[in-house]
This record gives sequence, C-alpha cells and structure tokens, in this order.
Amino acid sequence: MKPPKPVTSALLYLDAVSVVFDGFRALNELSLTIGLHEMRAIIGPNGAGKTTMMDVITGKTRPTAGGALFEGVHDLTRLDEAEIAELGIGRKFQTPTVFEMHTVEDNLRLALKADRSPFPTLFARRSAAERERIESLLERIRLEDSRHRPASELSHGQKQWLEIGMLLAQEPKLLLVDEPAAGMTDQETADTADLLREIATTRSVVVVEHDMVFVRDLGVRVTCLHEGSVLAEGTLNQVSANERVIEVYLGR
Ligand code: ADP
Ligand code: MG
Repeated sequence: MKPPKPVTSALLYLDAVSVVFDGFRALNELSLTIGLHEMRAIIGPNGAGKTTMMDVITGKTRPTAGGALFEGVHDLTRLDEAEIAELGIGRKFQTPTVFEMHTVEDNLRLALKADRSPFPTLFARRSAAERERIESLLERIRLEDSRHRPASELSHGQKQWLEIGMLLAQEPKLLLVDEPAAGMTDQETADTADLLREIATTRSVVVVEHDMVFVRDLGVRVTCLHEGSVLAEGTLNQVSANERVIEVYLGR
C-alpha cells in the first residue's frame, strides 16, 4: 500500500476534535492548525479545554470524535503516548520535574541519554558531541553559571528553564508548554518569553498562558478557547478587542 498523501501542510492539524467525559463536552469540535516553526499562544477561561487539548495531542486522552494529524501523515488518535513522544512532540507540565539532587549539567546529561537518536557512536566521539550539546543547551536556557549547582538550589523560574532544556535535549518538533509564567518573577517571565521565541525559530511551540503581559511579549498569534472550541483567533490586539472574549475571559 502507498503511504497516505499529506492532506495538510500544517505541522499539527486538529480537525473537529471532541472529548466527552461522562456526557460533559470538554472539547467540542475543536479545529486548529499549527504551522512549522510557528509559536501559538492559547488563552481562555478555566475549564475552556486547554489542558484537555494538550492531552489529546500527546495521546493521554483519546478524542471521542475528530482527527489529529501530525506532519500531515501521523494520526495521533491511533498512537500511544510513547509513540507520540517518539514522533517529536514534547510536553512541559506546570510543575517542573527535574532531579533535585543532581546538578543542572547532570540533569541535561540524563535527558540526552534518553536521546531518540538511533545511531550508535564511538564512546569518545559521543562524549565530545554530548559536551557540545550540553554547552549549547546551558547557554540557551541561561544556566551556564549554575551548571554545577544541584537543581534544588535553583529558583522556580530557573527550574522551569532547566526542564525546558531537558525537553529540548529530545529535539522535539513541537513543544507544548502549560502556563510557564505561573509563579515567576517579572524578570523571569520576560526571559521566558525570550527563550520561547528563540526556541520557536527552529521548532513549533504551543503555549497556554493566562499572563497577558507575557502573551504580549511573545508577539505571536493567539487562540482563545471557550467551552471546548475556538472563540477567537488572531493577533493579541484583535483577540482582546473581541466582545465575546471580553465577556467570557478578559472582562472578569
Ligand atoms: P483548562 O485547562 O482550559 O482549564 P481543562 O481542559 O482542564 O480546562 O478542562 C476542561 C473541562 O473538562 C473542565 O470542565 C474539566 O472539569 C473537565 N475535565 C477535564 N478532565 C476531565 C476528566 N478526566 N474527567 C472529567 N472531566 C474532566
Ligand atoms: Mg489547564
């Protein structure tokens, strides 16, 4: 059999996805596309379905109806969580899950060990390549000066960055980030927006966030969810001027 032809050029295509829990519609025919190297901000009131959407994309929750295509060919609704991670979809949860007793550098090293690369390499060459990757990750997540500190000594914001670095070690094509700015200082929030913008030059990023200052800093297309579907989509200015968005979300 010939492989199916891509029906979309989008990296991620959600097509009328519904998720029903005991008769309650957490997602209601949600359709959304994310382009290659696009960063998208998702906003919306509590219960809008933002986390459920990420659960569908990562295979944690099966949709009751609808489709989810990755790279135009992979049907995410038929794959399990491990297979989806293997395709290059990484997810960052709200609470960082770093190894507290290990140093920053060792945390990154452990994440690299779990590398998806199938190529066996000579040990020496591998360790040189590994050092280079750790250097570039440390620089990217702004933790070069903290490399020898145990993760337990990092600030909340720094732990979030370390976890982002550990996800980047897996070279995801799509990174999902749930409320990264929660609990961060203003400076950390601004630095996180910078970090995500850098990441989105080479990968796609979907970021759920309530902090509107942060969303403005990201400067990307915004989708507002409400009752499991898209209420509005556009620039932050367009979305925040939408009367329904003001009514259900921003105006509260
Ligand atoms: P958000 O992340 O936008 O706040 P969620 O996706 O967490 O929203 O939740 C959407 C709705 O689905 C909420 O009303 C929530 O109570 C409900 N929900 C989420 N997960 C489950 C579940 N496993 N069982 C039943 N209801 C759920
Ligand atoms: Mg949520």
